[in-house]
Amino acid sequence: MTDGALDALVDTHCHLDAPEFDDDRAAVWQRAQHHGVTAALVPAVEPASWQKTLDCAALDDGLRAALGVHPQYLHRLDDAALDDALASLEGRIRGARAVVTAVGECGFDGSTEALRATLDRQRRVFFAHVEVARALELPLVVHVLRAHGEALAAMRAVKLPREPGVIHSFSGSAELVREYTALGWHLAMGGAVTRATARRPVEATRVIPAERLLLETDAPDQTPTGVPERRCEPMHLAVIAHRVADVRGEPVEALARRCNDNAKRLFFR
Ligand SMILES: [Zn+2]
Repeated sequence: MTDGALDALVDTHCHLDAPEFDDDRAAVWQRAQHHGVTAALVPAVEPASWQKTLDCAALDDGLRAALGVHPQYLHRLDDAALDDALASLEGRIRGARAVVTAVGECGFDGSTEALRATLDRQRRVFFAHVEVARALELPLVVHVLRAHGEALAAMRAVKLPREPGVIHSFSGSAELVREYTALGWHLAMGGAVTRATARRPVEATRVIPAERLLLETDAPDQTPTGVPERRCEPMHLAVIAHRVADVRGEPVEALARRCNDNAKRLFFR
């Protein structure tokens, strides 16, 4: 390692299958590896792209996939299409168990009026994902944005998998860290913690137990502050690792090693 460079980083949330990477996907992953990112979990967002997500994860030994339906994509599915997707989810994952190591992305989003109006539907979809995760003994990849109360209530109303999984790109307070970790969740920090105004993510980052902390880029979204590129790429994970280590007052090498061990335990068994 030279000059703060890290190796063997795991990006636990990276939409490498997104259209934003259609023109240079292989180069993006090569750059990531050049910057020390040796493994990544690629979560699907909607049934129409499940096959693309699987194909993407098959590109390299270090890639794994999750299959699910993201709350922000629910509006694209009528009830029949949604029921079909949820009914086929377990079978699709069983058919691709070599690369699929998690169920999701699913979750709760109340960030707009239109999304708030679908929270009942989001809850039903979340419960279906939980059922599949329990049947396959896989962890969940969960998105929660401005709906922490709804998410926690749903999580307390079901029997979660023994290893529940991750709340990705965690946006909650330090108090919410305690509520999620009490239920067994891991929490992943991304680009938000690099913002100069990021008081809440910084406070949350400080109190996440070391054995529950994960790192992610959420590429192509959430470009960290201070990098020259506009589009977020998995290669930016080192920037996030340095910031998280800084905030927690830990040496970055030790922090990265701990987060990587956590990620491997959860998603790369
Ligand atoms: Zn995502």
